[in-house]
Amino acid sequence: MIKKLFRTFSLAFTGIIATAFALSGCSGVNKVDITPLPKVESAGLYVKRVESLKNDFILGMDVSSIISLEDSGVSFYGFDGAKRDLFELLGENGVNYIRVRVWNDPYDSEGNGYGGGNCDIEKAVEIGKRANANGMRLLLDFHYSDFWADPSKQMVPKAWKGMDIETKSQALYDYTVECLKKLRSAGVDVGMVQIGNETNGSFCGEKIWFNIQSLMSSGAKAVREIYPKSLVALHFANPEKVSNYEDYAKKLNYYNIDYDVFASSYYPYWHGTMDNLASVLSDIAEKYNKQVMVMETSYAYTGEDTDFFGNTIGDGGTYDKPYPYTVQGQANLVRDVIDTIANKTKNGIGVVYWEGAWITVGGSSYEENKALWEKYGSGWATSYASEYDPNDAGKYYGGSSVDNQAFFDKNGKALESLKVFNLVRYGNEIKPVPDALEDVNLIVDLNGEITLPATVNAVMTDDSKQPVPVTWNVTESDIEDMKNGGVRKYSYTGNAGGMTAHCTVSMVEYNYLKNYSFEDGDDGWVVKEYGKADELYVEDKKTDSLTGNKHFHFWSASRDSVDFELEQTVENLPSGSYRFSISIMGGDAGDTEIYAYVRVNGEIAGTAPMQITSYNNWDTASVDINGFAEGDTLTVGIRVKCSGSGSGAWGKIDDALLNSVKNVE
Ligand code: CA
Repeated sequence: MIKKLFRTFSLAFTGIIATAFALSGCSGVNKVDITPLPKVESAGLYVKRVESLKNDFILGMDVSSIISLEDSGVSFYGFDGAKRDLFELLGENGVNYIRVRVWNDPYDSEGNGYGGGNCDIEKAVEIGKRANANGMRLLLDFHYSDFWADPSKQMVPKAWKGMDIETKSQALYDYTVECLKKLRSAGVDVGMVQIGNETNGSFCGEKIWFNIQSLMSSGAKAVREIYPKSLVALHFANPEKVSNYEDYAKKLNYYNIDYDVFASSYYPYWHGTMDNLASVLSDIAEKYNKQVMVMETSYAYTGEDTDFFGNTIGDGGTYDKPYPYTVQGQANLVRDVIDTIANKTKNGIGVVYWEGAWITVGGSSYEENKALWEKYGSGWATSYASEYDPNDAGKYYGGSSVDNQAFFDKNGKALESLKVFNLVRYGNEIKPVPDALEDVNLIVDLNGEITLPATVNAVMTDDSKQPVPVTWNVTESDIEDMKNGGVRKYSYTGNAGGMTAHCTVSMVEYNYLKNYSFEDGDDGWVVKEYGKADELYVEDKKTDSLTGNKHFHFWSASRDSVDFELEQTVENLPSGSYRFSISIMGGDAGDTEIYAYVRVNGEIAGTAPMQITSYNNWDTASVDINGFAEGDTLTVGIRVKCSGSGSGAWGKIDDALLNSVKNVE
């Protein structure tokens, strides 16, 4: 159990080990029984059953802000409107773990809280007791900071500033022991302890892995001694950056850090696809024989903000929106993440939803709410945090950024989606009905026909799609305006089955390419293969497309097998000057030779180099052609050659444009 590091520092630790050993015999902690309750009633929520879900599969909820919310006057209500304790409601609806973050000292020199729930160990003890009393185990999330720790910041606690790594490791160990003893004395059942929060290559003010591993090992050691039956988790973010995850897991293994669970955040609007999540976590589980889980996830049930402080996601924005922002959409996201970890990921043990009850403190203005956030710490940060974190909290302090991702409406009443934690075990596959409408995005050439679609896709409650007839609020004169208004974007609404449909029309320059965005499959395009790639085809996946629903996809497992050209020849192109552009994204590519090209009568007339780096980082290149003569043959395309970096080079190509330009410089 004693790791490499402690041998080096054995003198410093001998006394502590002896003390901890003596105390571990007098634990008054009883394991909370998390056997699932019978199916709850739900007439309205569609839930597809998650197969073979184990009784102890972790269905967690982070409610770290709860005490500050209650202090601010927030109450919670059941589905029938009766006032209830939050923990009772969570326990009754299938939540079996409560997660709580712990900051060392989230207070300024005057004792004013930094906010975000002012989460110190005393609050964690209280939350732990309430969780246990309602049939839920505690998951403790040590940030080892005085305030928020995440990929963008891992600030050292005030009291540990300036310590060398040996002293800091000892301080972290002592602090962890002290906190865990408080929980143990209170009899709290702690199922899992996290050493650090979203520690993407930095932790507690340290950026060198030798130091990071020393701190992590010290924390893990404290857990093993005080709560020997608890799991030790390490937590990272950005699973879409696959090579980073591979690197973290490799480092943890290299330094022989004692941990059980490799945990990841998964916010679907930022963190790539669930397939990618399952794949990256499975690889780590397999290679290092670890358990894996989603430590944080969440989704919006509405686009609206309810506390006068802007939200992380909402109406508008450029992030992925794989489910509608509805109560059903939120439940579907939760169900699918659970299914991904339970059935598609090796050694997947659970999913925790982040801050599912962080609703508005209920004031009718920003000022009213601000007074409560400042007094009780019920917003994400108070002005008092500026002393510790002047650049972020000090500037942008305020309320909840996730009130629209809670399982409670602005009045604290439980939403039907809360039942998903229970219903995933049993299923509630009622008749699907339309839940939301997909937005329509039309791209029309300046000299093209403007025809608004006769139907829009309804997203059904089971997340399938069905066309519904639509009537657009667009007049003849609107159409004339669009025809004559040049390059511009227009927005319209319509009525489809009683719901409001949204359509944007982007008027663009005439594109001489056919099927420029692959929406009609490979029509018009020719693929020339020089290698033997495993996958080369048009893929129907909106979240991986630059525009529309489709794009050209490539992937290949073996090295040097991705090597192809994708091109289109344009017939009867008039004389003139043109600009060809195309976009690509991808990753794991190793050495690459990627370029956009133009051929005139079969001879290369221009190229532009391109790069692929990581998911959703699109690279767009353009090639200009001057003085093209009618009767010549113009071919435009992209050459892609990748050596691959081990896990298979992959990429997506989209949006090929060939526009006329008056004078190309
Ligand atoms: Ca808000």
